[in-house]
Amino acid sequence: MTDNLVIALSKGRILKETLPLLAEAGVEPVEDLSSSRKLIFDTTVNTIKFIIIRATDVPAYVQYGGADLGVTGKDVLMEHGAEGIYEPLDLCIAKCKLMTAALKGEKKPTGRIRVATKFVNLAKEFYAKQGIQADIIKLYGAMELAPVLNLADEIVDIVDTGNTLRANGLEPREAIHDISTRLVVNRSSMKIKHAQIQPIIERLAEAVAKRQRK
Ligand code: AMP
Repeated sequence: MTDNLVIALSKGRILKETLPLLAEAGVEPVEDLSSSRKLIFDTTVNTIKFIIIRATDVPAYVQYGGADLGVTGKDVLMEHGAEGIYEPLDLCIAKCKLMTAALKGEKKPTGRIRVATKFVNLAKEFYAKQGIQADIIKLYGAMELAPVLNLADEIVDIVDTGNTLRANGLEPREAIHDISTRLVVNRSSMKIKHAQIQPIIERLAEAVAKRQRK
């Protein structure tokens, strides 16, 4: 059905900040998302449904058309690659930085470097550009532990306040990319359902602009 829209939302901290923007754009879930185990939700607009999934799964849902629109972090989008995905709007929420970090005061190794990260592609690209040979170790969480237990010399991770790094004896080193949450759209949905999608983008853009003026 061309008149139904599925919007894929990232659960967790991004969701909390996304819902008020969507509400301002006129779309709200009809039930409390946090008290339900459902993954798909009706909204106040009867042609729009929300799915609540992991941020890292949003690009695949949008790329392959499981969802028409999605909301996820720039870090996740860059790591996944942009094929089949439009990125029309920066929602300017969940701002943070993708950075390298290492044990406080520890010198960078002169030769090969061991790097723990969940951002394998971005880390490879970053060290290659610097002409540094990096052995990338893929982890799915708690990257900060890797240098502490000598599994890695550096990590590549998301840093907001830097508290997590400091609490584990690490320090931020190089900033790789500024990160914020983006609205993404499936390329063929953008063509086929343009009349429905364009007003949502515009209303969200207005809601974002209003916040920036405050
Ligand atoms: P902080 O201690 O404030 O530097 O936060 C760092 C931790 O929170 C890391 O483990 C990150 O993975 C996570 N984090 C911080 N900001 C974001 C964000 N905008 N999106 C996803 N994860 C984040």
